[in-house]
Amino acid sequence: MNYDKNNVFYKIIHKEIPADIVLEGDHYIAIKDINPRTPVHILLIPKGNYVDYEDFASNATPEEIVNFHRGIGRIVEMMNLRSGGFKLLSNAGPFVYQYIEGQQVMHMHLHILGG
Ligand code: AMP
Repeated sequence: MNYDKNNVFYKIIHKEIPADIVLEGDHYIAIKDINPRTPVHILLIPKGNYVDYEDFASNATPEEIVNFHRGIGRIVEMMNLRSGGFKLLSNAGPFVYQYIEGQQVMHMHLHILGG
């Protein structure tokens, strides 16, 4: 899968442009979505160059995969999402489903939606 560094999340990870960072781990960064669709809308983004979830799951190292997924629990805790519940969503490619748009940023990210 061809990864193009010319995307906004690559620039945020490499601190070329600012973002509202809520948490940073060895292999991920978590930021507030600039256009939140729910009261809590966090994007959990692996630091490695992966186009989408399938690319990440297939090609990241076990350490990257585990570290990234541990970030979910840290965000849930930090944002107090456990009692009210939350949703995880990761778009890949142009597929549109009802009101959910296709992938806009071609760097793997997980939407954590709640609140
Ligand atoms: P997707 O459609 O799954 O690729 O989602 C991309 C998400 O990135 C959208 O929800 C955008 O609002 C969000 N987004 C785009 N640019 C930024 C940015 N500079 N900082 C934070 N979120 C962003």
